[in-house]
Amino acid sequence: MDFGLTEEQELVVRTVRDFVERELYPLEAQVERTGELPRELGREIQDKVLALGFYAPNIPAEFGGGGLDAVTFALLERELGRTSMALNHWWFRPSNILCAANAEQRDRYLLPCVRGERIDALAMTEPDAGSDVRGMKCFARRDGDDWIVNGTKHFISHADVADFVIVFIATGEEGSGKQSRKRITCFLVDRGTPGFEIRKGYNSVSHKGYHNCILSFDDCRLPSSQILGEEGLGFEVANTWLYATRITVATMCVGRARRAFDIALNYAAQRKQFGQQIGKFQGVSFKLADMITSIDAADLLTLSAAWRLDKGLPANREIAQAKLFASEMLARVTDEAIQIHGGMGLMDDLPLERFWRDARVERIWDGTSEIQRHIISRDLLRPLGA
Ligand SMILES: Cc1cc2nc3c(=O)[nH]c(=O)nc-3n(C[C@H](O)[C@H](O)[C@H](O)COP(=O)(O)OP(=O)(O)OC[C@H]3O[C@@H](n4cnc5c(N)ncnc54)[C@H](O)[C@@H]3O)c2cc1C
Repeated sequence: MDFGLTEEQELVVRTVRDFVERELYPLEAQVERTGELPRELGREIQDKVLALGFYAPNIPAEFGGGGLDAVTFALLERELGRTSMALNHWWFRPSNILCAANAEQRDRYLLPCVRGERIDALAMTEPDAGSDVRGMKCFARRDGDDWIVNGTKHFISHADVADFVIVFIATGEEGSGKQSRKRITCFLVDRGTPGFEIRKGYNSVSHKGYHNCILSFDDCRLPSSQILGEEGLGFEVANTWLYATRITVATMCVGRARRAFDIALNYAAQRKQFGQQIGKFQGVSFKLADMITSIDAADLLTLSAAWRLDKGLPANREIAQAKLFASEMLARVTDEAIQIHGGMGLMDDLPLERFWRDARVERIWDGTSEIQRHIISRDLLRPLGA
């Protein structure tokens, strides 16, 4: 493994860092205060990213995207992670699963997303089916060549700004007794489809201004042409194309942790108590040593998981380890950064209390820490028959 960056990778890091610091940091306080990012402002960010030529960096070049390899994409995401999701999600990375589209769907969904004309969201979770996604109740009944959908999805990120949603729906059952399991199918559902409603979700302490939504289906009729992939093979499509999205969570945690660390390091070097800089007290300096060690460890775990993807090596366990370690590292680092600041750390004059709140969701979405531990331990024990 060689993580010496190429010139192209250096350029990606510099360009994204510069954009995030210049264009997005100045908007953070307003988004926090209001809990909103006005749509026009989001569109402005989007236009600037399109002008940079860095839009849809994750989508293969044959479809007009940036076609970045996994390591370079991780480096880009690491820089975007320095700011909040409310702002960085306007640097759109359409869901990779759209690459499974057939020719007609590609023209209607994938290519307009790559050009910045349409926005997607992705919906699996339901009120009664979170970690156990296959337990979903949202159900589609066949009616001729159409499907009639009923049910609810919740926690669906940025569906409020989406033009369509990629939705996983049960379309039947296969097997019997203990072996029986739901057939899951992936559908493309346009905003405005009769019987389909997108409404505001809950208020979250993490990532203010990045809204989650509730989706309701009430006898919503979808033609079979809206199926992405094949009927009953929704999870197979998801496993092929969404396998690597947890790396995004890990890289963003690393980027935000480095930002929090830099603030804490500078404060420790300047703040004086008992006649000397607090960084000279071992109680503070050892915190800094532990913080940077765990940030670097998370960075390396993440890049090595991305490197395995680029090499075509199995990476499921490594991706889970990166997501688990980086999200738990971010929680510790933001907490210690506040501790080093004493009382000021909790005040919203500084961004640290926001990083601390934003850190909380990273251990939950895209598979909780417990589910990542489950993936890691199964990978170790299964070959031994346990
Ligand atoms: C802000 C936000 C945005 C989100 N955005 C999206 C989105 O865009 N699209 C989408 O589909 N989903 C989204 N999610 C859903 C997210 O992926 C789920 O919240 C997550 O998978 C956990 O599901 P749950 O919240 O229902 O918790 P549950 O699955 O009910 O888990 C509750 C607790 O039980 C533990 N647990 C469950 N099963 C096991 C097990 N087998 N072993 C050990 N512990 C277990 C969990 O780890 C957790 O601690 C979002 C969530 C949030 C909070």
